[in-house]
Amino acid sequence: MGSHLCERLLSEGHHVVAMDNLKTGSLENIRTLLHEPKFHFIEQNVSSYIHYPDPLDAVMHFASPASPVDYMNEPVHTLKAGSLGSHNALGLAKAKGARFMLASTSEVYGDPEVSPQDETYWGRVNPIGPRSVYDEAKRFAEAITTAYRRYEGVDASIIRIFNTYGPCMRLNDGRVVPNFINQALQGQPMTIYGDGRQTRSFCFVSDLVDGIVRMLWSGDQGPVNLGNPDEFTILEFAQVVQEVMGIKSQYVYLPLPEDDPKQRRPDITKARNLLGWEPKVKLREGLQKTVAYFKTVVSVSN
Ligand code: UDP
Repeated sequence: MGSHLCERLLSEGHHVVAMDNLKTGSLENIRTLLHEPKFHFIEQNVSSYIHYPDPLDAVMHFASPASPVDYMNEPVHTLKAGSLGSHNALGLAKAKGARFMLASTSEVYGDPEVSPQDETYWGRVNPIGPRSVYDEAKRFAEAITTAYRRYEGVDASIIRIFNTYGPCMRLNDGRVVPNFINQALQGQPMTIYGDGRQTRSFCFVSDLVDGIVRMLWSGDQGPVNLGNPDEFTILEFAQVVQEVMGIKSQYVYLPLPEDDPKQRRPDITKARNLLGWEPKVKLREGLQKTVAYFKTVVSVSN
């Protein structure tokens, strides 16, 4: 997400300072940007104090592991990125008088009892479950962002990002899109967790970036859902991946991870009305681009 967002902002003529500790991100994704005169990269852990000397118009806090596998491998770092990291990023925005944006997540809705999920739903999160290191960190991040808006005068906004995919994802990040494509490329069976009837809705990265940029300059506080409302069961999704790749895969069924949400689909009425935004890229089209990217990565690593 970060590299795509940097490219988009640079293409609009902005100066961009990107900070990342490269725990789950990769310099490879911004290699070509490093030569741009208006781009500056700083290796920084968001959970440590952030020093930046020059003025800033906007601070966008997107730092956190986002794949369940990653955040369960790095539970304390994930909690710190959402809590200390949000505090540091908000402090920076306050000091600069900058617009602030928090990248929150559909995970604040937990394993929801309502579908689709709109922004008024408070969620059903297990505070001590394995996903809580991410979910509760993001819920805290929303709370502190709101407090800085109400009490500290920061022009702060919140977006809630639903499942997003596209080029530049890590092949082994453990999420369903890279997993299925990688397994198909290697001729391995696809790993279906549970019975595969849980649902997700997948947004292509360019659509998401468009929504983010509209929200950034809208002046609205949110929270606003950003995602694609086309919902698929994981088995349906596996089928679409095979169709797009022109292959037939076997399945291996593995246990459903604890607290894995059974359904997830954004209600994007608010984003439509507020931002005039709507995803345009259909799943098959987005998957073709993503598969093409992963093929280049696999051929390099072989
Ligand atoms: N999933 C799966 N096989 C995989 C990876 C994930 O069946 O190899 C399922 C997972 O249990 C979840 C859905 O796919 O129901 C999406 O998982 P992902 O890790 O992409 O992100 P989540 O939406 O759970 O944050």
